[in-house]
Amino acid sequence: MAKLAAPIARLIDEFSRLPGIGPKTASRLTFYLLKVPKEQALALAEAIKELREKTTYCEICFNITDESPCPICRDPERDQSTICVVEDPLDVLALERTGEYKGVYHVLHGAISPVEGIGPEDLRIQELLRRVKGKLIREVILATNPNLEGEATAMYIYQLLKPLGIKVTRLARGLPMGGDLEYADAITLARALEGRREM
Ligand SMILES: [Zn+2]
Repeated sequence: MAKLAAPIARLIDEFSRLPGIGPKTASRLTFYLLKVPKEQALALAEAIKELREKTTYCEICFNITDESPCPICRDPERDQSTICVVEDPLDVLALERTGEYKGVYHVLHGAISPVEGIGPEDLRIQELLRRVKGKLIREVILATNPNLEGEATAMYIYQLLKPLGIKVTRLARGLPMGGDLEYADAITLARALEGRREM
């Protein structure tokens, strides 16, 4: 194979690092961007730049937002005394899609995973504790993923919250075991939320 021009090889390499994109797709995307009007390609570059420069973590729930506190934490219509704990911002999107949840969130940014070297200190767990201690919280819903890491994380947080006398619930079974919350359909997720049980 002829040697690719350095800028082309570079972009193929960058695309290849993205989840779900193999070398073939990476090449296809790169050559596509060479073909489209220059403005379109530059708009993509600009969008990526803005994505990283104009977003931040919400100081309360640690969801990704363009202004902190985020719109959900600022919304007086939301029940600020119910906190739903999730692993990732995509889980917030999945729960919002159900249209059933009226409380607020807390995003951990991962789950405890000894295999991947992720411990409790790498997650926003201390921030959750501080939040729970600082305000009147009636319920914490542990909506971590229904897999090994998610269960371990839920159990760990439960042990910390139990002595504080807060009602702690876990989403009902029925979510595909081993799966990710973000892939669950809205109806299944709404049902799991509705059927949540006290731990
Ligand atoms: Zn927030």
